[in-house]
Amino acid sequence: MVLYTPGNTSGYPSEKVKSGIRFYFLGGAEEVGNVGCIIEDNTGTRLLIDYGMAPTRPPRYPSESPPVSDAIITHSHIDHIGMAPWLVGAHGTKLHGTELTAKVSEIMWRDTYKVSSIEKYPLSWDKRDLDLALDSWETHKIGESFNIGEWNCKFHLAGHMPGAVMVEINTPSARILWTGDIDTRNSPNVIGASPISCDILCLEGTYGARIHPNRSDEEQRFVERIKEVVNRGGVALVPAFASGRGQDILRILKRDAPHLNVHFDGMGTRLTKDWLLFPEYNNNFKELMKTWKWVKRVYGKSDRKKALNADVIVTTSGMLDGGPALWYLNRLNSNKSNAILLTGYQAEGSGGRLLLDKGQLSIYGQMTKINLEVNQYALSNHADGPSLVKFAKDCSPKEIILFHAPVEGISSLKDRLDGEFKVFLPENNKPLFLNL
Ligand SMILES: [Zn+2]
Repeated sequence: MVLYTPGNTSGYPSEKVKSGIRFYFLGGAEEVGNVGCIIEDNTGTRLLIDYGMAPTRPPRYPSESPPVSDAIITHSHIDHIGMAPWLVGAHGTKLHGTELTAKVSEIMWRDTYKVSSIEKYPLSWDKRDLDLALDSWETHKIGESFNIGEWNCKFHLAGHMPGAVMVEINTPSARILWTGDIDTRNSPNVIGASPISCDILCLEGTYGARIHPNRSDEEQRFVERIKEVVNRGGVALVPAFASGRGQDILRILKRDAPHLNVHFDGMGTRLTKDWLLFPEYNNNFKELMKTWKWVKRVYGKSDRKKALNADVIVTTSGMLDGGPALWYLNRLNSNKSNAILLTGYQAEGSGGRLLLDKGQLSIYGQMTKINLEVNQYALSNHADGPSLVKFAKDCSPKEIILFHAPVEGISSLKDRLDGEFKVFLPENNKPLFLNL
């Protein structure tokens, strides 16, 4: 349960910062998801970066934030943005982000609210907070400089998804680069993140222990498999996250298999409409527009029935935890020519994980054996271990804080960066002081 009593249940230290910079993770330190970190120095400037919840079952929440006048939201994934309405309702916090992140936040928050009501998960904010949060955005362009207290900030492209940013923070004593979620490779919809020279690098490490296969080889492997399934008369069901992965899949299919009949269902259809309002965040807006016109969008029940005769269905949820993907799976399960192509990480406890491990998952509360072939593809939008190490070196920081990573990811990254840099592994709810 997370029912904060603003000001009474925050464990944030009451002492002022005397020297150096204090980092205090409310969440996301030795874990992936529910990120929130307060940064404060002796000028009295205090800033929160991200305030999300991990969409696990049940969700994981960050600790209560102390009062904070400004928060920067790096991007609109729920593990970075999900708890922001609470901040605004409780503390009147101003939210800083790109225009696209601000626009997409409404869909993300309304969906979070809906899911928590349906699944009866506690949520510490309500519809009033949500409405306030929608009015509390101050948006900034990439490269625009803006002040928070005594600090000067600037956004840089993070490569992770359209509208996602890294944050450069110039304090009187240091330049900090907070990566948010980054990918240094180009992907179908965004160009990769470039290094920024800094003194303190706060580096995400989601895939710090992994080496990704070559991106274009993996895309090819995915398309070949789709063609096999279609050629044998089957329908390929592609569960994909609504914000980023789904649109990447569509771009890949339009590019490499434009003759296929591809249907797109779920929250991603609404999110893509927002993407279309902000061409500057996409690496090839013309292609995105062409893809949007090419794909058959599913908006209602009769569209959904028609989609059962498609070649490919791309839909949410990416981890088969709900959404139209389960409705389709329930109907496609009877014909073994059909197949499931998973396109991302399947968290412990998710439907997709159960499917991979045991060949079954819960559909509308009923544990159901799945008779279809299942394949998984590494089409992640996070940099892998070697890319993160190269990125860190190219930023030439003095000190590195590793966060947003599972324990094995973080220790493997630390091993590779130790020696050349001072590397810190923060813990949630414990202050970390950096003095340059
Ligand atoms: Zn993300």
